[in-house]
Amino acid sequence: MADLVAVPDPSLADLTTLRIGGRPRALLECHTAEAVAAAVAALDDAGVPVLVLGGGSNLVVAGGELDLVVVAVRNSEVGYRPEDAPSPSPSPGPRAGAGDAAAGVIVRAGAGLPWDDLVADTVARGYGGLECLSGIPGSVGATPVQNVGAYGVEVAQVLHRVRWYDRATGTDEWVEPAALGLAYRTSVLKNSSAAVVLEVEFRLDAAGRSEPIRYAELAGRLGVAPGERTDPALVRRTVLELRRGKGMVLDDDDEDTWSAGSFFTNPVISEDELPAVRSRVADRLGAEQAAQMPAFAAAGGVKLSAGWLIERAGFGKGHPSSSSPARLSTKHTLALTNRGHATADDVIALAREVRDGVREAFGVRLHPEPVWVGCSI
Ligand SMILES: Cc1cc2nc3c(=O)[nH]c(=O)nc-3n(C[C@H](O)[C@H](O)[C@H](O)COP(=O)(O)OP(=O)(O)OC[C@H]3O[C@@H](n4cnc5c(N)ncnc54)[C@H](O)[C@@H]3O)c2cc1C
Repeated sequence: MADLVAVPDPSLADLTTLRIGGRPRALLECHTAEAVAAAVAALDDAGVPVLVLGGGSNLVVAGGELDLVVVAVRNSEVGYRPEDAPSPSPSPGPRAGAGDAAAGVIVRAGAGLPWDDLVADTVARGYGGLECLSGIPGSVGATPVQNVGAYGVEVAQVLHRVRWYDRATGTDEWVEPAALGLAYRTSVLKNSSAAVVLEVEFRLDAAGRSEPIRYAELAGRLGVAPGERTDPALVRRTVLELRRGKGMVLDDDDEDTWSAGSFFTNPVISEDELPAVRSRVADRLGAEQAAQMPAFAAAGGVKLSAGWLIERAGFGKGHPSSSSPARLSTKHTLALTNRGHATADDVIALAREVRDGVREAFGVRLHPEPVWVGCSI
């Protein structure tokens, strides 16, 4: 296959998991890291707006004609090496066995590889580290962009290095995680055109131990104490089961999964604001609910549960109705879904209704998690 392919008649509705979005000026599929960097460099030089696209699973894109060129990142090579081996030219990778039990392993993957293919491959080889992040759609290259996380693990915990093309300086270089400013569902790359991720390296446990299980629901299902490690394959199976129950594994036959995942991040408020929020919950729902409201210590203050607030503000699963083109998933209030014929305007109207309703009910502002292209909430 050629390194770069121009795809005729592109539509973002066909390239995003929300299945909405208009027609870009062009779609360039790039099958090597070098082709990605060259395409973005040429478009930047020509002053053409670029949308760097992975799996389209974290995007809300406007309809109509879009004045931009999509560069689809599709390089997907994978290689493994022992952690203490020199870094260039990774090998196709040994199967984990008794001999390498104590060592760490580095996996290097092309940014365009589907993320869950990488997770499945590492788990099949007996390596631990990525299993809690099973079932998340999208590409490897997008995982550092919003510091992807689920079930108590974030990419920041397992990230080794990132190769990026710096669009300001034109440099293709490897950078350490510290350069990425990784934080809760964000980084210096999110909502920015600073750099394009070309390859990513993750550090894995070659002894076949999962990351410590920190998420209570997962620990309960696995029958382990929080903080314990266990078999990555068992963790993967269990996470996939939990995610399917919440409509968080993409399924072409299930409109409940046609979403951009969690539409809002969990809001972080200051300690000082917490009593006022609890009191608004008490006024509306009673003291018992106020006492039960989930609130966890987090960087920058206290993290609340967006899903809990949405539901308590009156937006139940499936809101507003079974005939609405855009509605909340019937399995999870945090996912806004397209039932097949929603437009970007339908999704935006629903997102505004939910955001404003939560603010009116409890005085808490919800922030959208996806990246917006040509539109905003
Ligand atoms: C059903 C479902 C479940 C989800 N569950 C989770 C979850 O549990 N946890 C979680 O964190 N997220 C979750 N998400 C959100 C999403 O899957 C992740 O954010 C994912 O990493 C996005 O990857 P992508 O390749 O689809 O990115 P895209 O949607 O293609 O792009 C998202 C943003 O990243 C940029 N980008 C993409 N690739 C690159 C690159 N190589 N270099 C630079 N910028 C790039 C794009 O320009 C855009 O700004 C879920 C989404 C869905 C639909």
